[in-house]
Amino acid sequence: MNFGFFMLKIGLTGGIGSGKTTVAHIFKVLGIPVFDADTVAKDLMENNTELRDKLIAQFGTNVFESGKLNRKWLASIVFQDPHQLDLLNAQVHPMTLQAAENWFVQQDADYVIKEAALLFEAGAGAGLDFIIGVFAPPHIRIQRVMQRDGLSREEVLARIDRQVSDTIKMKLCDFVIVNDDQQLLTEQVLELHQKLIQLNIHNG
Ligand code: ATP
Repeated sequence: MNFGFFMLKIGLTGGIGSGKTTVAHIFKVLGIPVFDADTVAKDLMENNTELRDKLIAQFGTNVFESGKLNRKWLASIVFQDPHQLDLLNAQVHPMTLQAAENWFVQQDADYVIKEAALLFEAGAGAGLDFIIGVFAPPHIRIQRVMQRDGLSREEVLARIDRQVSDTIKMKLCDFVIVNDDQQLLTEQVLELHQKLIQLNIHNG
């Protein structure tokens, strides 16, 4: 049993539409617990009263629609205005970071994964042992997100522009998974899974 003592904490990141969630799903199938920071952040925004009040004070009542976070509206505001994005991040990130810490200590596995679109930008990578980057070329990411979210090319490009460039991001990662519709994803994840189990054995 590990109970968090010698359990590796692995970050999983990549640009919008790179395939983080798809890769995280394969790790989950392999029995690895995954903390989805973006979903937890959204959950906190909707259900944490203190955070809800702060968001309403900052953005107005439009931020919620029938009690649900109006994600599309909020995204359209913050992705056009870096200052608003910084203000939003300053409210949400510390709480999400704390939620991840609370979650880590409850896990018992060879290693655990924290999936987050922003790991380098938000200091959310603190305390992680290794970071996996998911890389896909921009034209594939744009197509995937346009299709998944029903956005225009310009809207996707605006979101990509707000993130640290993938070229820089991937250099900061310890492992890179290439999700370019050419190389088999499952094979790469399986190989990394074996490697991380070995690393955990040596670490412990
Ligand atoms: P975001 O940062 O926006 O949450 P993400 O990095 O988590 O994106 P995914 O949601 O995993 O990316 O992938 C984006 C879209 O592309 C999804 O609709 C997903 O099903 C699709 N996709 C990802 N990888 C592949 C692949 N190898 N083959 C086909 N479709 C893929």
